[in-house]
Amino acid sequence: MADRDGLIWFDGKLVPWREANVHVLTHSLHYGLAVFEGVRAYNTDIGTAIFRLQDHTRRFFNSGRIYMMEMPYTQEQINEAHREVVRENKLDSCYIRPIAFYGSEKMGVSPRGARVHVAIAAWPWGAYLGEDGMERGIRVKTSSFQRAHVNSTMPRAKLASTYANSILANTEATQDGYDEALLLDTQGFVAEGSGENLFIVQDGILYEPEIASALTGITRATVQTVAADLGLEVRSRRLTRDDIYIADEAFFTGTAAEVTPIRELDNRRIGSGSRGPVTEKLQKAFFDIVNGRDAKYHHWLTKV
Ligand code: PMP
Repeated sequence: MADRDGLIWFDGKLVPWREANVHVLTHSLHYGLAVFEGVRAYNTDIGTAIFRLQDHTRRFFNSGRIYMMEMPYTQEQINEAHREVVRENKLDSCYIRPIAFYGSEKMGVSPRGARVHVAIAAWPWGAYLGEDGMERGIRVKTSSFQRAHVNSTMPRAKLASTYANSILANTEATQDGYDEALLLDTQGFVAEGSGENLFIVQDGILYEPEIASALTGITRATVQTVAADLGLEVRSRRLTRDDIYIADEAFFTGTAAEVTPIRELDNRRIGSGSRGPVTEKLQKAFFDIVNGRDAKYHHWLTKV
């Protein structure tokens, strides 16, 4: 990833990709406190546009607030920097990664005295769980690792060190030949994927797990709105892994994963074992929105 052309926004300036480096004594590298976002821009009917940029930036700042990490920029400056990065790299559809981290000014657990640095990079990134998975659905395994307790790393923050837990789960699942992991919470109820929220469909009703131990996904919120538009009822409740085994349909949502159908959990076929009709309808509506084909949601698009 490091050896390529392009520009990265780093502490207020665009710098050449290969020069956007940090010192080995970077505090966040040692103690794991960095907050980040995953954002996408699409080549839409009204030009290249970033999807729900303001919502992502708000969550970025909220992640910082949870960890008492003082952002040295305003939300407006960060929004503008996203646009600049996409524009100056001449990207049309791409993934955007803003990160805020503590620098190498000091060592020791307390970050007091370390500076907060912010970087924003963007690059082309296709279907996160594969084009094939988008159509046929993916195979998922319930992880032997749990999502952290709500009073551990705190689920509302998109925190770098949370992803150590995601890596354990994803590695276990993919080494066993599955596409992705499903994590349960400390009480054994469904939380989320390693980088996605989950929905199931049962008798035409959409259910999502009460997201106590999961990230409040922006794609999840988008699907909730779209479902309401399509006249689908959405309910939040505690879900067990076997609720998914007997569901008619299941799918993951996420900025990277977009809307990805799940065709199997723990070697049990879900519904017909392929992308279900409700999932397909929601997937189509989602892609219409992000690609600017639905004028009703142009307010979610920020032109670069
Ligand atoms: N949960 C986790 C752990 C994630 O990493 C993500 C991706 N950011 C999501 C859920 C989905 O969130 P969003 O739809 O905002 O990308």
